Amino acid sequence: MFKKILIANRGEIACRVAVTARRMAIKTVAVYSDADANAKHVSVCDEAVHIGGSAPKDSYLRWEKIIAAAHATGAQAIHPGYGFLSENEEFAQACADAGLVFIGPPASAIKAMGLKAESKRLMEKAGVPLVPGYHGSDQSPALLKQEADRIGYPVLIKASAGGGGKGMRAVEKTEDFDAALASCKREAITSFGDDAVLVEKYAQRPRHIEIQVFGDSLGNYVYLFERDCSVQRRHQKVLEEAPAPGMTEAMRQQMGEAAVAAARAVNYVGAGTVEFIVEQHLPEDATSEVTGERRAGPPQASSAPSGGSVVREATSVGAFYFMEMNTRLQVEHPVTEAITGVDLVEWQLRVASGEPLPLRQEQLRIDGHAIEARICAENPDNDFLPATGTLQVYQKPACSNFERANFSTTGVAVRVDDGVREGDTISPFYDSMVAKLIVHGQTREEALVRLDDALAQTRIVGLNTNVQFLRYVARSSSFAQANLDTALIQREGAVLFKQEPLGLAMAAAAAIAQALLSEKATEGADPFSLRDGWQSHGVTRRRFEFEFHGEPAHAELTYLHDGALRLEVGKLSGPLVFSSGEQGMAIEFAGQRLTAAVYRQGEGDHVFSARGATQITAIDLLAHAGESHAETGRLTAPMPGKLVSFAVKVGDRVQKGQTLAVMEAMKMEHTIAAPADGVVQEVLYAPGDQVTEGSELLKISV
Ligand code: ADP
Ligand code: ADP
Ligand code: MG
Repeated sequence: MFKKILIANRGEIACRVAVTARRMAIKTVAVYSDADANAKHVSVCDEAVHIGGSAPKDSYLRWEKIIAAAHATGAQAIHPGYGFLSENEEFAQACADAGLVFIGPPASAIKAMGLKAESKRLMEKAGVPLVPGYHGSDQSPALLKQEADRIGYPVLIKASAGGGGKGMRAVEKTEDFDAALASCKREAITSFGDDAVLVEKYAQRPRHIEIQVFGDSLGNYVYLFERDCSVQRRHQKVLEEAPAPGMTEAMRQQMGEAAVAAARAVNYVGAGTVEFIVEQHLPEDATSEVTGERRAGPPQASSAPSGGSVVREATSVGAFYFMEMNTRLQVEHPVTEAITGVDLVEWQLRVASGEPLPLRQEQLRIDGHAIEARICAENPDNDFLPATGTLQVYQKPACSNFERANFSTTGVAVRVDDGVREGDTISPFYDSMVAKLIVHGQTREEALVRLDDALAQTRIVGLNTNVQFLRYVARSSSFAQANLDTALIQREGAVLFKQEPLGLAMAAAAAIAQALLSEKATEGADPFSLRDGWQSHGVTRRRFEFEFHGEPAHAELTYLHDGALRLEVGKLSGPLVFSSGEQGMAIEFAGQRLTAAVYRQGEGDHVFSARGATQITAIDLLAHAGESHAETGRLTAPMPGKLVSFAVKVGDRVQKGQTLAVMEAMKMEHTIAAPADGVVQEVLYAPGDQVTEGSELLKISV
């Protein structure tokens, strides 16, 4: 076994690899960029080497620096994590040439699976079922269109070199094909430096089910069952679980064997994932979604037709089609660890050092059910716009470290994998994922309850996150009933976006209770000393101005003679009773009880409770006296990033909501829309420019 390895990554995956290495008495070397000088992954490794500037191309992608760091520290092997260099065959080859072990598959296997089109050609030969489509090397637009017409609409154009949900365009009809192809190729060349595409049948409501495979250098292979990653936004995974609901033993074995065949076909070694698009079993007379053919089909598990107003039953597993193979450890690997008890990083290290696979297929078992939620710095209510900022509060639920992968032996059913600590900053340079929350239960229902509790106990202040959104998704009837497909978030939109879990009255009551408690601590309880209180008819009254979901709101508090408090918010009024306790503040108002923790950031109060988390801003009127209102006509960048394109030029008349520009930040594209009708006066940047948050992009006269 290795004595020392270098981890060529950052964030949670670098930390996670380091923990297993430590357990196996292997020393670790971290590498870091300027932005990560004080990052958690640096502190959990035994040594660290600075490799350059904050942008990935200046540090985590500079493989000559990384190889030099390995030599300088005496590391024998390099673990690439995921992303960055993990699927770069030149890097894998460069490691081998430098006498270092690349902890991953051989360069030839990465190359074979690197391009989606080529890998599909290979899989076709290996007899693995494919998503129907065109994956040939002739890239003439006329031929591609002809192929799309043959496949039948809707089709999906995919950048062959694509990844991370980028470089894909769905096309509804033949007239739209040329424009979609051109735009897909543009994105592919800028993002991946290669504009080759393939065309696939676009399945309407498929599931994404993937198989974890493992190979060793002796030619042994196993599959560690499946993960369902159907819950996606922008073709990126949001919740992942194992095993896949509705999976039968027979289907599991078929998919597992197909995945092993795929791995074997490229002489795969190490951990890999074969991703499949899976159809639901449809009623006998229905049309197969993926192939467009009528099938007699195997016996039906679910007889409800898909779509329409009919409530569908839990999803089933139908025909499956190879999509791509990811030649690395996957973000969602912990759900597999949770149900199998295998530490996949340990297996990677053993296999890379030449040992055989620790277990044979027949020794692998599924224990219970696991779900992972990706906690990201983003704003789900604003099209998942990535957020940056400082984790002023970062509280996790009671959880285990990933040290013991097997939940059933540790008894702790919640695991948090993260690469940040309270006080750390989420910078614009890297992925927006803050942490992964993994729960385990004997049944899916049990895991779901744990997930909801754990999300409720996850408190983050300082930047927008999707924590509350994840709770809504987990509680949605589709997810709760395991009615899974890639359209779930879209379908359940009405209960996922722009929701308010507490309501104004309780949010205001919590904010006021917290304010009174902290005043008591600092100023004493005397309401007459308050600068914004006043007296009328012998009782003291106090008015609070709030902003709640962008709307002004107010509340009035009355201090009664007997020391009791009366609160009036909107139509509700009544006594306000509160006390601080172990679990937070116990609040009673207007017939509701709530246990809440309130954190103040600036003027914003962040209220966390079992019912949900919300934000309310108490406006200190005295502090704002004399301020003018925000200027209109300025349009600023909502986050730091790169300008991709402007959709308007000087003199254009624009309408509210119209697209003005497209920005790219944290590996995603975002549309900047006009806040009001007007005329473009000035365009202040050019495509390709890097802008900081708040930079003025355009001037618009209104
Ligand atoms: P999956 O592993 O299921 O395919 P993703 O595609 O979302 O999930 O995850 C892989 C992606 O994560 C990479 O392609 C990259 O964009 C991003 N990534 C790379 N490095 C890191 C990192 N250190 N922390 C978080 N995300 C990263
Ligand atoms: P990436 O390399 O970005 O992960 P994938 O080929 O794995 O690209 O596709 C990402 C996601 O897009 C899938 O998980 C699935 O939800 C969706 N998708 C891909 N191909 C199809 C298809 N042919 N029909 C419907 N959805 C698809
Ligand atoms: Mg994929």
